[in-house]
Amino acid sequence: MKIREILAAGRPTLSFEVFPPKTEDKYESVEHAALEIAKLKPAFMSVTYGAGGGTSQYTVDIASSLQAQGVTPLAHLTCVSSTHQKVQSVLEELKARNIENVLALRGDIPKDGKVEKDYHYASELIAEIKKSGDFCIGAACYPEGHVESVNKTADIYHLKEKVEAGCDFVTTQMFFDNNILYNYLYRIREQGITVPVIAGIMPVTNVAQIKRICSMSGTYLPARFKAIVDRFGDNPAAMKQAGIAYATEQIIDLIANHVNGIHVYSMNKPDVAAQIKASLSEIVD
Ligand code: FAD
Repeated sequence: MKIREILAAGRPTLSFEVFPPKTEDKYESVEHAALEIAKLKPAFMSVTYGAGGGTSQYTVDIASSLQAQGVTPLAHLTCVSSTHQKVQSVLEELKARNIENVLALRGDIPKDGKVEKDYHYASELIAEIKKSGDFCIGAACYPEGHVESVNKTADIYHLKEKVEAGCDFVTTQMFFDNNILYNYLYRIREQGITVPVIAGIMPVTNVAQIKRICSMSGTYLPARFKAIVDRFGDNPAAMKQAGIAYATEQIIDLIANHVNGIHVYSMNKPDVAAQIKASLSEIVD
């Protein structure tokens, strides 16, 4: 099923993200975790592409296993380190497996700066996917601005280019203060961007994750969130419980404010996904 049709129903939706393994020996355990999350019957599940290693084949294979389990998959695809030929071969593979949803991304510029020359921005990939078949296309957006953008206005201008190139919905980078999203929604709607916006929520369950988030410049950590880390950071079980509760509260506030699409960065953790789903049992189908 196409994600734009799921979103068009206008009801709150809960979806989860998983990332494929970097190496073949981890494939089975990652697939197992993905299928455990699939048992929660989310609206859809996304499978990341290539970030930090792995191969495109793992993304397609895990997306395919989710499809076989009856969950709509969203396969991510990046372009900046790729060629037209590679992108076309992945799209053909997705078509062959009846995977209809693609999240089209530029991808991060590698540290050595070495990229292929075929693509510069995600908008070019979106236009190509649009021409290549009947896909439902998503893109990334950044309520706090993308790290490379000169300012938020420029970033929103480039988001509009992605929508005009043919994307059907956008999913946000994680954020920990809902007011940042509400303000962003106001700004993008004002610029005529009307596609559904799915809020990306990261349940922070350990200190290592927080360090990674802090190293990604730009993610604002509210005082209420920092207090949780200060108090529970050295108690892994308490940190996990508090991190899940914080994310759940964020989700309830979003849905209460009519942000219906919620995507949880579940980090291949079925127990975290299950706890969030259970806490929303009367709120989301
Ligand atoms: P773009 O939309 O191309 O934007 C990149 C930068 O260029 C922005 O600063 C933008 O403002 C600017 N820009 C865009 N167009 C122009 C233009 N015409 N002229 C000048 N500047 C321009 N990474 C992975 O490797 N694998 C994944 O699976 C993955 N999944 C993700 C999922 C989500 C929901 C999000 C939010 C991010 C994900 N990422 C993933 C990370 C993403 O690849 C990086 O954030 C990357 O740096 C930007 O990708 P993009 O598609 O947003 O790029």
